[in-house]
Amino acid sequence: MARPAADAFRLPKTVVPDRYEIRLEPDLERFTFAGEESVSVTIREPVTEIVLNGAELEIHQVFIQYGQGVTLKGEATLDAAAERARLTFPETLTPGVWRLTLQFTGILNDRLHGFYRSTYKTVPDGGGDAQEKVLAATQFEATDARRAFPCWDEPAFKAVFQVTLVVPERLQAVSNTPIVSERAIAGTSRKAVTFAATIKMSTYLVAFVVGELEATEPVRVGKTPLRIWTVPGKTHLARFAEEIATFSLAFFEQYYGLPYPGEKLDLLAIPDFAAGAMENLGAITFRETALLVDAGAASHAELERVADVVAHEIAHMWFGDLVTMAWWNGIWLNEAFATFMEMLAVDAWKPAWERWVTFAVSRAAALSLDGLQSTRPIEFEVQAPKDADAMFDLLTYEKGASVLRMLEQYLGPESFREGVRRYLSEHQYANAETTDLWQALGAATKKPIPQIMDGWIFRGGYPMVTASVDESRRGLVLSQSRFVYLADGGAPPELWQIPVALRVGVRGGVVIRSLLLSEAEARVELPGPVEWALVNAGGYGFYRVRYAADLLRKLTRRLPHLAPIDRFNLINDAWAATVAGLTPLRDYLDLTVQFRGETDRNVWTVLIGSFAYLNRVIPAPLRAKLEALVRDRLAPAVERLGFSPEPEEGELSRQLRADLVRAIATLGNDPEIQAEARKLYKGSLEEAGAADPSLLPALIAIVAHAGGDPEYAEFVERFRTARTPQEEQRYLYALAGFRQTDVLSRTLEKTINGEVRTQDAPFLARSLLTSVYAREAAWTFVKANWETLERQFPAKSGIRRMCEGITALATPELEADVREFFASRNITLGGKTLEQYLEQLHVAVVFREREGPTLETYLARRFLR
Ligand SMILES: [Zn+2]
Repeated sequence: MARPAADAFRLPKTVVPDRYEIRLEPDLERFTFAGEESVSVTIREPVTEIVLNGAELEIHQVFIQYGQGVTLKGEATLDAAAERARLTFPETLTPGVWRLTLQFTGILNDRLHGFYRSTYKTVPDGGGDAQEKVLAATQFEATDARRAFPCWDEPAFKAVFQVTLVVPERLQAVSNTPIVSERAIAGTSRKAVTFAATIKMSTYLVAFVVGELEATEPVRVGKTPLRIWTVPGKTHLARFAEEIATFSLAFFEQYYGLPYPGEKLDLLAIPDFAAGAMENLGAITFRETALLVDAGAASHAELERVADVVAHEIAHMWFGDLVTMAWWNGIWLNEAFATFMEMLAVDAWKPAWERWVTFAVSRAAALSLDGLQSTRPIEFEVQAPKDADAMFDLLTYEKGASVLRMLEQYLGPESFREGVRRYLSEHQYANAETTDLWQALGAATKKPIPQIMDGWIFRGGYPMVTASVDESRRGLVLSQSRFVYLADGGAPPELWQIPVALRVGVRGGVVIRSLLLSEAEARVELPGPVEWALVNAGGYGFYRVRYAADLLRKLTRRLPHLAPIDRFNLINDAWAATVAGLTPLRDYLDLTVQFRGETDRNVWTVLIGSFAYLNRVIPAPLRAKLEALVRDRLAPAVERLGFSPEPEEGELSRQLRADLVRAIATLGNDPEIQAEARKLYKGSLEEAGAADPSLLPALIAIVAHAGGDPEYAEFVERFRTARTPQEEQRYLYALAGFRQTDVLSRTLEKTINGEVRTQDAPFLARSLLTSVYAREAAWTFVKANWETLERQFPAKSGIRRMCEGITALATPELEADVREFFASRNITLGGKTLEQYLEQLHVAVVFREREGPTLETYLARRFLR
């Protein structure tokens, strides 16, 4: 089949909407809705038909009127595949402003997109059995506003929206703007709630939620009232989010130098929600775990998640909502910026969290994906809606934010902010392209931004900088080449403009240099013989570093003098080079010995991650020996930290304890730590606070790993009756952490039998696919139930998220079977997603084949018991 022309997915621009007046009446019992809209449109050239988007809608009436003139009746035909409605009229419509009126009906679906239904249970005030309740919510990004009302559903068709919702009197209705009128409808138990007109914005930002909702008292930030909405009985979990939300709103107004573009700001927790949150202007929706938390009982990681997501969404009110990308290829402008700003805000809010240091873990995840041959540029061609949805990945968010941070550090934070302010004020209420941002930053900084940035944005991949000392000993030689896990011999060499920060030890002192490496190789002259060198000092660069053997040795000796971020990059780059076959595995494993005294959580994340990777590629009989290696590397740090924190201990150290204890008890399978964890877990059930809140999730994971039937039954019950969203998640994912086949098969069933929300089921399935104890059964289950999973999971994103788990099916047999399955069924996951998963799997299998014998010898020599 020929590739469809681009306009198969882009609407004609002959008719442009200016203002929508939309009236919707949802029926929360029949799961349908009736709607009417009146759209003021500008017709730019004579037409006899109007084409707009619509999906799963029926259009019953079509009228169009010119000024106060005659009204024409039109006909609607829907093209389900193209998700379009074609409105035809008996006469040619002449250029000018017309009013288009449509009547339609649609469904409140259960796929968590468009206008959809979400359910939850409440216990009536006087006690008794829990009742199931329904609320209706929206999720329109990327292309699902068209399921709620016929519209020009592309980000460039910005318009004003005025929404009226007709709902039962006892329910609350929330939309983007404040309520301007609320009238009972005579003779019914319904009311019509009309909201103020929005600013000019894209369709994907429209939102409405209807249900028995409760809100916190409004807090004023400047002139903006801010509230948090939940289903009944949960507002006591809103305090923490309220704090970061009020802080972020004030922080961003100051940073951007522009007032918040809405009249009020509501943050709503929705029980069923496919993504993490959605930046609808003035009515941000969240999954419950990303908004509601009991701050006194949550771990650091759980709190950080809430702070991150809240700050991220509020950053979008300007970056994304006020100024929007013109098309989905530019989604990185939204997401990378929101991620960058989220870090900036959370870092300013809680400096002790060292958010820019911990961001290294996100940067590393992006480096890992971007090291594939099948990576894509940050800005990438998008045609079909499915491809737009596939853009919401590590490259858009984490690589995007990383290269922005690199640029900010290179230009200086003040100049960078100046450019951002200029960009926002020039393009507010409109759309912009990446080149507009470069222009604004260039104007503010007088630097050639496109030359520096194009290689990072419009090309996939990134460089590895190799450092060595020349014969004179006074010259540091830096060269660059693309880093890839699987070499592609025929690829032409590529160059990037790399901002390099250097710290070099020369006799008598330390030299700090910053330069732009744009050639294949450059020599940096130093005032004396080089004793040691640190490349990418401070860790902001989006590239890897490979040191010549003598430089690496000297740097490793200086390990205790390096900043945590520099230690992080050293071990992270070493591990990547090992997976890519550039560094012998033996050297990497020896290097990990030097990190036994490590105190930084992020550095440990790399170490533990690499052991988990080895665990996935070794044959089962070797597992006990790998466990011994893990214990050997982790035990000193676990002993140092113990099980209970010092009274004044910081949150990062508490979370590190949890990570280490969890890893030594699961990956290291340490029986003594398991016993201790079980005891402490039991104690914490009897007395809240017996275990540190950061440690509790780890304890639950350990009890699952070491447990069996009785623990499983208990955890299922605790999952069902959890008091907070975090508690629910801990027990849910623990169900994938058991090791017995029969128990795991019960967890597999829960991904489709209705016991687990469909918002969580794909992640639970992914967890099972990545467990070495469950993966084969999980893969068999996924194959056997593919149609059911596809039908039940959240539309578009569900299957894609679950399938990430296939990267862990790291045996040659499983890999072959996986490839066969996807090929024979012609499955695509949008964009380059499937290609990337398959390549990640292949990298793991190649690693297994190449390093298997080394690993076996290494483990046999050092850890034979
Ligand atoms: Zn976002």
